[in-house]
Amino acid sequence: MKALEDKILKEGTVLPGNVLKVGSFLNQQMDSDFIMDIGREIARLYEGERVTRILTVESSGIAIAVAAGIALHVPSVFAKKHKSANMPKEVYTAPVYSYTHKETYEIAVAKEYIGKGDKVLIVDDFLANGNAVRGLIGIIEKAGADLAGCAIAIEKGFQGAGDELRAQGIRVDSLAIVDSMDESGVIFRAQ
Ligand code: 5GP
Repeated sequence: MKALEDKILKEGTVLPGNVLKVGSFLNQQMDSDFIMDIGREIARLYEGERVTRILTVESSGIAIAVAAGIALHVPSVFAKKHKSANMPKEVYTAPVYSYTHKETYEIAVAKEYIGKGDKVLIVDDFLANGNAVRGLIGIIEKAGADLAGCAIAIEKGFQGAGDELRAQGIRVDSLAIVDSMDESGVIFRAQ
């Protein structure tokens, strides 16, 4: 998605530790129109796939998951990272090591929101080492649902997880794939 690559080049900054900061449009501040463009692009890619639910993990994936859900006219569900009082007892869980926080969370989705007969599209803002996506795939498997694929805004291709998942036969669509990045700039994979 050329517009996403342009936005990353214009507004993104590379932080130490291979972290790409896109707080001005995707993470902390969200560019509403642009988020909807991302959602429509994801919907275009999965139009004929009979997706019944979008699944993401809180919190940074939620905005584009909702945008994709609006465009596909299906509900968006997010996995919670922290136990809360209003979380039902019946949950599917999976451990996920967080790339940005350097700790392991138990992510959880209430059983009532995902199940057999669902065709689930995973949506996330970043794909780095693939831990978040693998945790979400684990939850889909436990629920007995089918995986439609993974739609990612920004894949950090140099970390390898996207290509590993593709090699396993999992559909992964990333709207921008970063091949390399440092303080002097970002280089994208031609798609
Ligand atoms: P993974 O589980 O694939 O290693 O990392 C994916 C998660 O870590 C994403 O949900 C995202 O929130 C966060 N993340 C990974 N790399 C980056 C990055 O370079 N920038 C930002 N803003 N978040 C990242």
